[in-house]
Order: sequence, then structure tokens, then C-alpha cells
Amino acid sequence: MAKIHELSVNLANQIAAGEVIERPASVVKELLENSLDAQATQIDILIEAAGTKLIEIIDNGDGIDDDDVEIAFRRHATSKIIDRQDLFKVRTLGFRGEALPSIASIADVELTTSTGQQAGTYVHIKGGEVLAKKSASARRGTRIKVTELFFNTPARLKYLKSQQTELAKIVDIVNRLSLSYPQVTFHLVHNGKQIIRTAGNGDVKRVIAEIYGLTAAQKMVPINAEDNDFQVEGFVSLPELTRASRDYISVLINGRYIKNFQITKAIIKGYGSKLMVGRYPFAVVNIKMDPLLVDVNVHPTKQEVRLSQEESLVSLITQVIQQVFTHVSLIPDGYQNL
Ligand code: ADP
Ligand code: MG
Repeated sequence: MAKIHELSVNLANQIAAGEVIERPASVVKELLENSLDAQATQIDILIEAAGTKLIEIIDNGDGIDDDDVEIAFRRHATSKIIDRQDLFKVRTLGFRGEALPSIASIADVELTTSTGQQAGTYVHIKGGEVLAKKSASARRGTRIKVTELFFNTPARLKYLKSQQTELAKIVDIVNRLSLSYPQVTFHLVHNGKQIIRTAGNGDVKRVIAEIYGLTAAQKMVPINAEDNDFQVEGFVSLPELTRASRDYISVLINGRYIKNFQITKAIIKGYGSKLMVGRYPFAVVNIKMDPLLVDVNVHPTKQEVRLSQEESLVSLITQVIQQVFTHVSLIPDGYQNL
């Protein structure tokens, strides 16, 4: 008798969810990436009980066509890439078509969306099962409400840390995405209390002030460099503004927030002996490159990337920071006023 069988779609989605959705902040990250890919300029993020009770994201982006709504919840269904070539030049934050089916397989999801061209659509899915679908009047954009996260994966639920820790992870994601997308207004509310609101006027320094405070922003200086392959720009803190962790260093590649030890090390190296042992700067380093030079298809969460030419990028970054600090005495006056 045959012993091998294919897993049900729902179970396959739950397994994928295990990689993509680790905690409430992962849901927030995936949904925000979708809103950003849909060209939203205003995103409201309503959270209750650090995301364990409610994660609701409302955007004014492109919306989803009625015909596409159910497909969007299928595994590997995406509007962002079509063929193999596209995979090597991904310009969107998403492309794997895994977030919506993963989230819907382990939570209660209600989505209302409209392209603004026709009546909108409402769909209610829980544990992978479509409970309702109907037309709904809605303005252009998408509202997605996630409740009962991990209701059917008890181990995950148990593994969650304190509300304070889970909320901090959500705030961290919103911070980094608002630094990556200064032209977008992010509005984060937790248990009815506003935590973040960015102006969305395109000014990164203003976002730095909004999330890290005005004093921190005043101690950040701009960097700018390019070579044949890379363009590097952003802000780094004066050596006097440091923290005890590397968490205040944000690295973006083509608008995607990534984690890369070598690049982080290169930033720190640029400060040379100006930093005390165990202290790290604030930095927002935005790197633009041909998508062909970066492979984002390394891990389901898309935070790890593989870079060709990593060495030349790393030395460009160290150099530009070194140069900034050789001229540091010139800086304060010009950058004090925001
Ligand atoms: P991916 O982002 O990798 O394509 P997802 O499962 O996150 O996969 O989303 C599936 C599809 O649903 C997306 O490709 C997109 O077309 C659509 N979608 C999801 N969220 C939104 C949104 N907020 N606005 C517009 N379209 C969306
Ligand atoms: Mg996505």
C-alpha cells in the first residue's frame, strides 16, 4: 500500500506559516510590505494586546480586484513576478506569494479591498477556510484585520514573549519601514494610544526625528557615495550619539530593510576608534544597486540577502563614513536646524 501522500493545501500553508510568521511582528511586516508594494501613501496600523488580539492595517493603495481576491490567498499566488527572469530583478518587497495564505491558515482574517474602479470585496477566512465572501462598498485601498493569531498552532502561541517584547518588535518593524519609505505616512496605534506617526513628506531626517527624537536627529550627518555598482546614501550619527546595541543601525537595499553582518561591520569600522568599546552608532544606510547584484530569495522572511561584489560595497561604506568624520568639525552648524 502506498505510504506517501500529498499534504492538504491547508496543512502545507500552516507549515509555510511556521517559517514566515514567527510572531505578531511578522504579520505586521508582511502586511506593511503588501501595502507598500501597492503604492500606499498612508498606512494605519491598529494593534491590540501587542498583536495577539488584533492587527489591523488600512492602506490607500491599489486594492485588489474582486476576481483576484481569493487567488491572493492561494499559496505562491502573486501579482509581483511572472517568470524566472523576474526573480533576478525583484523590485517589490514581496514576490513569494506566501504571506496571505500563511496568515489566513493560522488566524482569523477579514479583508476588505477595492481598486476604486468597481464595488469592493469583503472576504473572511479562518484557519484557511473561506467563511464569507461578498461585495462591499469601500474606498480605494485595502483593510485587513487579523485576529486570533496562532489559534490553531498552540506551540507558537505559547512561544510568544511578553506583550512588551512583542510590541517592541512591532515598533521596530514600523520604524524601519518608515525610515525606508519616508514618503509614506505610517500611523501606529496600540491599545488606542498613538505610538508613531510619520509626516510622509519624503524627508528621512524628519522620520529619524519622529522615531528616535529630535536630539538624535540633530546628531545625524548625511553620507553620500557611489561607484560603478552602488549608490550609498543616508545618515549616520556623530560618534557622541551611540547605543549599547546594533539595533539602531538600519540597512536598506533597494528599499528593503535587510540584515547583513558584513555591512553593519563596515559601518562600525568607518568610525574607527571614535566609538567606545560596546557602543554602536545610529545609522540609516540606503543602498541602491542593480537588482541583478542582489539575491533576495534566500529566506522566506526576505531579510537575508546574498550580494555579489559584497567586498567592494563594504569598503565603499567604510570609506564614506571615514570621510564624513574627517570633515566632522564642519558639520554641526549646517545640520542643527530641522
Ligand atoms: P506577495 O506579496 O509575495 O505577492 P502575498 O501573499 O503577500 O504575496 O500577497 C498576494 C497578492 O495579494 C499580492 O501579490 C498582491 O497582488 C495582493 N495584495 C496583498 N495585499 C495587498 C494590499 N494591501 N494591496 C493591494 N494588493 C495586495
Ligand atoms: Mg506580500
